[in-house]
Parts: sequence; structure tokens; C-alpha cells
Amino acid sequence: MGNTRLSTALVDADGHILQLWREATPAQQGADAPIPLLERMVAEGQEHIRRECNQTPVAIGIGFGGPVDHSTGVIRRSHHTQGWEGVALGKELHEATGLPAFLENDANAGGLGEALFGAGQGADSLLYVNIGTGIGGAVIIGGRIHRGAHSNAGEIGHVVIDPWRGPVCTCGKRGCLEALASGSALGKAARRRLQEESSLDSSLATLPANEVTGTKVGEAAQEGDSLALEIIGQAAEYLGLALAGATNVLDPEMIVIGGGVSELGDLLLAPTRQAFQRYATPPVAANTAIVIAQLGYDAGVIGAAAVALVECDLR
Ligand SMILES: [Zn+2]
Repeated sequence: MGNTRLSTALVDADGHILQLWREATPAQQGADAPIPLLERMVAEGQEHIRRECNQTPVAIGIGFGGPVDHSTGVIRRSHHTQGWEGVALGKELHEATGLPAFLENDANAGGLGEALFGAGQGADSLLYVNIGTGIGGAVIIGGRIHRGAHSNAGEIGHVVIDPWRGPVCTCGKRGCLEALASGSALGKAARRRLQEESSLDSSLATLPANEVTGTKVGEAAQEGDSLALEIIGQAAEYLGLALAGATNVLDPEMIVIGGGVSELGDLLLAPTRQAFQRYATPPVAANTAIVIAQLGYDAGVIGAAAVALVECDLR
């Protein structure tokens, strides 16, 4: 479940997508609007698999973009879309379909998907970081999500990096990694620089301010725009710093970077690795691979399926 798009997929136990449906999230605010749509999409999936594959689906996995209570299937907070707090989405879908339904936040689901079926296959432990509009993360150990004592493990997006000068984050704290290195942070940083220095030689300066988004910064960087490259370099510095801190504590086998901003590839990875080398302790700096995720746009649905497969002891 994304802010703008609901994707439903039938996924087999090897992480292969058999069928995929995408629908726009209804524009109304709040939880009421998308639930009937979700139920219809799941029913369609059940019908399809019976008809085409002569099989029966075993479970539903749901990835949601915000903190959830995994054990009860209830959404705890929704930073980006209002009205979802307290919705028992797992229970609602279970009651509507008769299938066990497991709710997980999308970063945990994406991390598990990468560990079982993507860039992290074969790794015993990994730190997953999803950089999109916001920044989510997951710690995967032995093919399982490490949730921590308060279901809060992996929240690298809200690690405070610069409480002195950093921008205020969606969570209310100042200088979180999300406020410094997410897609929206790239756009904001560019708009701030353009406002401060009107004479900057950048293709971004030709755009109306409200069109200077993280995506535009990424596109400009790919064309060699010096302002865009500088902004991405600064974000990578913060990202490398956060990864070094997390890695010093967790010592995972690898770090997997996913989400829309990871499509920048080496433009993001090269300066991130350099910063990571400077900030991580030597054995960690020398031996921890930082790689781009492999599941791309399918990470959400494959990750949600991975959650259900693990819960049902099928992986
Ligand atoms: Zn924050």
C-alpha cells in the first residue's frame, strides 16, 4: 500500500510474481476509502488463482508505509496519509477473505523481500534502507525481521544526525536522516540553495520553485548539474554517517539500499561508500558491502508476500 497506488500480486513461495494488479489509491483522505478497494483486489486475486492455477492462496501479506503493530495487525501511525491510525487492517482483510492476513511496515517487508529473493540472498544478516519520499529501514537476521523490543528496530530514517542545523523532520525532531537524505529532503535542499543564491548556474534554477523535487534533482545530477551533484553528495555524506553508526552496532553482512532514490545508482553509492569508509570502524569499513536493491518496484508486493510466507513457515 502506497500513498498513491495500491498494488496486489499473487506471489509463489519462491518469490515469483504470478499476477500483478495496480490501482490508484482513492483520493479521499482516511482509511475508509481504500478498504473496499483492497478487499475487491484480494477477491480478484483469489478468483484468478483458482481459475488460472487451480490452486488456493494460503495467506495475505500487507506492507504499509508507517509503523504497525505486527502482532495485532493494527496500524499505529501514518506519517504520510491521515486517518489510518488504529485501523485493524490485518483483521479486516482476514474477516473479508477467510485467509490469515499479516500486516507489516513496508520497510520491514521490503528488507525481508530483498533478503529472501533479492540482493541479500545468501546473506545471513543485512541492514536494508529504503530511500524514497521518506527513509525506512529494516534489520534482517537469519532470514527473519528483527523487530526489537518495541517493534522499532531498523528505523534508521529517524536517527538524528544533525540536531544543531538540520531541518525539522516529519516526526517532529530536528536533523533526522530522513530530513537530510530522503527524496523530499533533496528537493528541499535544492529549493533552499536556489533561494539563498539567485545566481547559481544550474538547470534547476530555470524551474518554478514548486517543481524542484527530489526527482528533478536526480535527473539534473544524471546530466552532470553541479548543484544537483553537490546536494546528492551532501545527502550521501549524511547517509554514509548513519550507515556507519548503524553498522558499527549491528555489524551486518551487507547493506542494501532500495527505494526510488536508489535508482541514482553510483551517483549516490560512490559518495555514500566514501563517507561510510571515513566514519565506520576499520573492520566494518573494509568488509561491509553496500549494494543497490534488486526488486525495484516489485519490492512492496514481494516483500509483503515474504512476510506471509515466513509467518506460515513456508520460508
Ligand atoms: Zn524523524
